[in-house]
Amino acid sequence: MQVVVVGAGIGGLTAAVALSRRGHAVTLIERAPAFEAIGAGLLMAPNAVHALASLGIDLDGVGVPLDTLDLADAGGRVLGSVNLGRLAREFGPSFGITRPALHESILRALPDSVSVHLGHAVDAIASSVKDRVTVHSGDLTWEADLVVGADGLHSRIREIACGPQTLRYAGETCWRGIVPLAVGHRAVEQWGDGTRVGVFPMTADTAYYYLLRCVPQGAPPPAWDELRTHFTAYRGLAGEAIAAIGDVPPLHHDLLELDRPVWGAERVLLLGDAAHAMTPNVGQGAAMAIEDAITLARVLDDGIDGALARHRTLREPRVRSVQLLARRAGLGVKVRGAWATRMRDSMMRAAPSQATERTWRAMIAEGVDLVARVN
Ligand SMILES: Cc1cc2nc3c(=O)[nH]c(=O)nc-3n(C[C@H](O)[C@H](O)[C@H](O)COP(=O)(O)OP(=O)(O)OC[C@H]3O[C@@H](n4cnc5c(N)ncnc54)[C@H](O)[C@@H]3O)c2cc1C
Repeated sequence: MQVVVVGAGIGGLTAAVALSRRGHAVTLIERAPAFEAIGAGLLMAPNAVHALASLGIDLDGVGVPLDTLDLADAGGRVLGSVNLGRLAREFGPSFGITRPALHESILRALPDSVSVHLGHAVDAIASSVKDRVTVHSGDLTWEADLVVGADGLHSRIREIACGPQTLRYAGETCWRGIVPLAVGHRAVEQWGDGTRVGVFPMTADTAYYYLLRCVPQGAPPPAWDELRTHFTAYRGLAGEAIAAIGDVPPLHHDLLELDRPVWGAERVLLLGDAAHAMTPNVGQGAAMAIEDAITLARVLDDGIDGALARHRTLREPRVRSVQLLARRAGLGVKVRGAWATRMRDSMMRAAPSQATERTWRAMIAEGVDLVARVN
């Protein structure tokens, strides 16, 4: 089958690898003039690590294996914890990894047979002769049996296949970057009053950080001197990371999500953020794109007829539950004011200590199981 994959982000690259491994002729079209990963760092949970390993992509030695993911208050006092070391014994490791390193690892697995076209933004898709589709970028065209839209949050392919969809603002804006800071194998997210800060190891002596702040959508970003005044209450790892930030963080985005997943139409299938952009609260957006890519390639083993329905049936319940989990996980951050923040923190401290880990375990187990079933 001839497949055009639009977008060479984490999802599109993984799809190109998975589809070519299953014997399809793949054309990969990317808007950027070079393969590049925009972003700072990521958590790769065991379901994503497992899915990539099924394609021979090994993150060992590329990312930093994580022992613990702590949720703490602004002062650094732990409110809840996921013992990633314990989960690793069952499902394999979680990694803190830079986006370029992850991108590069997937790219290395891309076979030469994939026809790559960089610097072309797809702007239209048309049905051509019977059962074929034509993909357009300016004056250039590519013919295929199927198109995979992996073109991210502001997907043009989603718009073409499913019409305009509203992206919902999650109420928080996010700054991200990397600082020189050794944090061992511990990742932490700390919650303050209308703000939160995450710190994840990327290498032995660097860490990825994100700063989130509840503000109205599109609020103009302040200068670093002003921005940092909103984060002065942070101690512990978050405080150390903030102290190490020299200037305004390099990346700034409002957090946006799709209300519910959409999967495409006829011979156009969507994956990753194009299909189900979600908030990053459980660190699973890229993981879902990777799982999508692997299941989509498997779905095409049974031909194009009914592929969209099979793709949706396999992915919708899984993705929807993770998307809703991420949405719920963000609710506590919206709490404002010193009294309400203290109440929230004491309720979290009083919650059963294993509750967060049980939720994570179930989320990871389902993905590991799914990948085993489709391989
Ligand atoms: C703050 C933040 C933190 C996150 N942390 C995590 C985490 O810890 N773990 C995790 O698993 N996920 C995380 N995510 C989510 C993750 O970043 C995304 O879900 C993931 O990158 C989606 O991959 P994708 O391939 O679908 O889209 P993208 O990575 O956005 O790739 C889309 C590609 O398509 C290209 N493109 C766009 N339009 C066109 C066009 N018209 N024609 C051709 N090419 C086009 C783009 O240039 C890009 O290369 C986080 C997200 C955010 C915002």
